Amino acid sequence: MTQQASLAALHERIAAVNDVLNATSLLTWDSRTMMPAGGAETRGQQIATLTRIARDLLLAPETEKALVEAERAVEGLAADAAERRMVEQTRYAVEHHRRVPASLIQERASLRTVAQAAWIEGRSKSDFSIFAPHLEKTVKLSRSYANCIGWTEHPYDAMVSIYEPGETAASLKALFSELRNGLLPILDAARSQPRPRSDFLFRDYPEEGQRAFGLTLAEKLGYDFKRGRLDTTVHPFEVSFTRNDVRITTRYNRNYLPASMFGTAHEVGHALYEQGVDPAYTRTTLATDLVGLYAVGGTSFGAHESQSRLWENHVVRSLTFWQRHFSDLQRHFPDQLGDVTAEEFYRAVTRVEPGFIRVEADELTYDFHIMLRAEIECALMDGSLPVSDLPEAWNAAIRRDLGLTVPNDAQGVLQDVHWSTGYIGSFPTYTIGNVMGAQVMETLRRQNPSLDPAIEAGNYAALADELRTKIWQHGRRFTREELLVRETGRGLDPAPYLAYLRGKYA
Ligand code: ZN
Repeated sequence: MTQQASLAALHERIAAVNDVLNATSLLTWDSRTMMPAGGAETRGQQIATLTRIARDLLLAPETEKALVEAERAVEGLAADAAERRMVEQTRYAVEHHRRVPASLIQERASLRTVAQAAWIEGRSKSDFSIFAPHLEKTVKLSRSYANCIGWTEHPYDAMVSIYEPGETAASLKALFSELRNGLLPILDAARSQPRPRSDFLFRDYPEEGQRAFGLTLAEKLGYDFKRGRLDTTVHPFEVSFTRNDVRITTRYNRNYLPASMFGTAHEVGHALYEQGVDPAYTRTTLATDLVGLYAVGGTSFGAHESQSRLWENHVVRSLTFWQRHFSDLQRHFPDQLGDVTAEEFYRAVTRVEPGFIRVEADELTYDFHIMLRAEIECALMDGSLPVSDLPEAWNAAIRRDLGLTVPNDAQGVLQDVHWSTGYIGSFPTYTIGNVMGAQVMETLRRQNPSLDPAIEAGNYAALADELRTKIWQHGRRFTREELLVRETGRGLDPAPYLAYLRGKYA
């Protein structure tokens, strides 16, 4: 077979896997936007079946045959050539899935249904003991899973590698300790400043106005509505069905304006990444997470989050943005915002207020919520923290870092859905996204002196062009760390993030 033909045979196999995974994503999108509540159980079965079919396609003898041919075909190519990366990543994923027995996947899937129901009940009654036995099983299965995948230093390494390849318990510990030391004095300084007025954020904001402003905001930032749409959901998310159909969702809180606005900016950041992937990578390994079995073009959870946080916080949550666009917002809400200036609005949406809930946290306290979860996950995985001691460990960390006393489990250990769905190891990617976003932004500003004037003039295409060239178009060809080294000259570095927060808040 010619080199071309060998690769074409593998592409065909992977394209089919990608198609099935996109169908799975569509079922998920539907379940979170349109589906009546009664469909939940059967929808879960449909998604599990399709995911299994995708895995079977990947592990089929035909794929192995095509893969072996393709491995021969790319032997002479440069180490980072796109075709070679596709083949190597496919091999890595195949070996990953071979190590995990189908029975374990089945066990995890069945536990998920029961555990989620127990979590919902436990949270509504604010009673951790209802969820605890299921979390114990989840931890046990996660350990078996980690052992199948393989690890040398810490079982948490295996779990983290699924979401953020290259990170380990040890690397995260080092990153977090540097962040903690840097963040605490900034938080102290911010808390000692007088509280800005924020009463106007809680006025009555009808949904139509919020949606209309959200649509213009998304368009301003460069989101392509010919390849996307904005829908309403309970927990906002972005999902792509190849670069040509990338959807975002938001939620409207009638009495709190920032939720939908910054939520939309965040999801637009995710969506720009997906819409910007090289069209040549469509339906290939470089636009498919073959390990996590998820059709996504971004290279890691952390890299993805870096783009959403960059647009949400560095662009939209900035004084220059509101100096330029506050009058647009006022036009949508003349009565509610008539007595407010752009500066007052900016101060209100950047006020620092330590709280119990991660998804409502400001920029300065957000990472404490993440570090706490990562510490706990790590200790659960190595057995040093028994599940029964979890609420106490949680409450102690919130007291230590934020000086708050957690009133109940619902506002503490039971607030996030992640553990009930079997996700252990994904939390650190939020903080990695914050750090990477600031590092990329700092480099772009330094390399391109015309960038800030363009942004100040409301020309966001200049920033999008830079990010498309340097990050988005590469899809999954380079790892997160490779992207950082290529574009910023070094691996993940918290210094620019801390400098950004210090400049904005201290
Ligand atoms: Zn996000």
